[in-house]
Amino acid sequence: SPAPGPQPIRRLEQSVINRIAAGEIIHRPASALKELIENSLDAGSTSIRVTIKDGGMKLLQIQDNGSGIRHDDLPILAERFTTSKLATFSDLSRLTTYGFRGEALASISYVAHLSVVTKTKADSCAWKACYADGALTPMKAGTSADPKPCAGNDGTTITVENLFYNTPTRLSALRSSSEEYARILDVVTKYAIHNPHVSFTCRKAGSPIPDVTTPSASTTQQAIRLLYGQSIAKEILHMTVSSRTPAEEDDDEEVPDKGSWDADAYFTNANYQAKKLVFLLFINHRLVESTKIRKAVEAIYTGVLPKGASPYVYLSLNIEPRSVDVNVHPTKREVHFLNDDEIIERICDAVQEKLVGQSQSRVFEYQT
Ligand code: ADP
Ligand code: MG
Repeated sequence: SPAPGPQPIRRLEQSVINRIAAGEIIHRPASALKELIENSLDAGSTSIRVTIKDGGMKLLQIQDNGSGIRHDDLPILAERFTTSKLATFSDLSRLTTYGFRGEALASISYVAHLSVVTKTKADSCAWKACYADGALTPMKAGTSADPKPCAGNDGTTITVENLFYNTPTRLSALRSSSEEYARILDVVTKYAIHNPHVSFTCRKAGSPIPDVTTPSASTTQQAIRLLYGQSIAKEILHMTVSSRTPAEEDDDEEVPDKGSWDADAYFTNANYQAKKLVFLLFINHRLVESTKIRKAVEAIYTGVLPKGASPYVYLSLNIEPRSVDVNVHPTKREVHFLNDDEIIERICDAVQEKLVGQSQSRVFEYQT
């Protein structure tokens, strides 16, 4: 049959555009939660409590004790591209906070029922607001959409209900609620390791016992023991390395240059042999993925562990913000940065040196 003639080009409706954009940022309950945790950390919280119903599909709630949100900002809170973290394009290169382009809450409001209760220290009461499609929406039909005063502690509680109720294809792509819940626990656990000064809890709604709970003010080592168990914690090695160690240590240049970086790693020694690699990677305090770094880390251990055995590795890498391109993908998961080959090699060399040095001293111990 002959090729069909050209179809007319039409402009998509704004609501369709926004729902598509939302789908790129919020893939599943765990990705919504990651954005919300980052917001709570950006707000300086020391306590973050997560409550989940039905794998986060029915309810995903996060309560923090951070700065709160100013009452006057509530009307534009869930609008796309509204943020308190970025004002000019050049700010992108100095970014130190997690979020930066004001899309997370907007996205959530396009694919779920979103409500916020928030109180700043200066407020005499808390305010509650509900959002749909980027804007304030009435709590009950026929009432005003304005935020309502209510009781509440300093900080912010964000409630996300019926995620993807209006995007059935996305909903059907999700796994079972227990699998989605496992992903949620994984995100909370990883942020709790990276922020041992913050108290985290995560529980199913109605359950008296949280599935994850950490105290505030613990150390990384303590957090690893608590969350991943003694079998890992007792075999953990710690290493730090930076662009200035060790040879350039007495460099007279004090201003951080474009290439400056430092890495902090906790990783198991050869005594620990798991079936599957556990790899936590934070770049500039953001939980990210890097196939390149993961492969490099796996390669170190092939020379240390028997075939089929895998380590536990937590790596936190801080790079001069100017050399990281966090603007690559809306989900900000795969991060790209300058001189990555060189930096990865330096880190892997340092990890390897520590691993080898450790196993030699062990052999030596056994021999004496
Ligand atoms: P971004 O984090 O990129 O700025 P978001 O949509 O995630 O965009 O959040 C929009 C704004 O809402 C933030 O810039 C911040 O000012 C405010 N905000 C969101 N969550 C919180 C929170 N838990 N505590 C305080 N302020 C918050
Ligand atoms: Mg954010």
